[in-house]
Amino acid sequence: MTEKKNQIYEGKAKKVYATDDPYLYIVSYKDDATAFNGEKRGQIAGKGIVNNTMTNIIFKIIGENGVPTHFVKQLDDRDTIVRAVTILPLEVIIRNVAAGSFSKRYGVPEGTALLRPTLEFSYKKDELGDPLINDDHALALGLIDEGQLAQVKTYTHKINEILKGFFLGKGLKLIDFKIEFGTDNKTGEVILADEISPDTCRLWDVVTNEKMDKDRFRRDLGNVEETYQEVFARVGGRAEGDNY
Ligand code: UDP
Repeated sequence: MTEKKNQIYEGKAKKVYATDDPYLYIVSYKDDATAFNGEKRGQIAGKGIVNNTMTNIIFKIIGENGVPTHFVKQLDDRDTIVRAVTILPLEVIIRNVAAGSFSKRYGVPEGTALLRPTLEFSYKKDELGDPLINDDHALALGLIDEGQLAQVKTYTHKINEILKGFFLGKGLKLIDFKIEFGTDNKTGEVILADEISPDTCRLWDVVTNEKMDKDRFRRDLGNVEETYQEVFARVGGRAEGDNY
């Protein structure tokens, strides 16, 4: 049986534990929420359960569609066995509709449809506030190599197509999202890691355009917990009493 050994990392929303198998980790999702590079902090009750289960539902679908992921097995509400990876220090963002920092940077009203899915990278460096970075910068700094970069872009556009269809079927428009990739510590291949959840996606109700994601926390819009539960129910989250 795979069990938690020593904690090897604690992030803003998750802890990562080693296991007896050097190529497997256990990720444990917390209810802690942060925004604006850690300036705003709080808790969203039940978020860890939603994000763990929702990520696994989505990673399974992505895997079935030909993009490899770190998902191995969900252990319980908050804990999942994953393949051990070394995270590439780039946040990969796709935007379908203008919002957030894109709207601010380019003076485009939130909700403006973009003519094509737009991919951007942020350099994962908290002390710099995760700045926007381009391909050349990332290659020049050795953050990623050319083969990995091409792979990441192809996978990310494919994931966007999968997610857009998936969420639309649940009455949600995928405005934008952030994902992270890692290199598998055993095989070296680039695989999807981290999470896909209301923390990392902008999701708007198709009928009302209501924000159904972490912007409710970031912008103090209210009904934060209720919204996470609503998204969870729509994506087919676990019913009370389920066994894994
Ligand atoms: N995002 C994220 N983590 C970050 C920054 C952004 O998951 O550290 C997600 C965010 O939820 C949104 C997308 O990436 O779905 C684009 O975010 P944006 O760059 O507009 O930044 P924000 O407005 O959140 O500062």
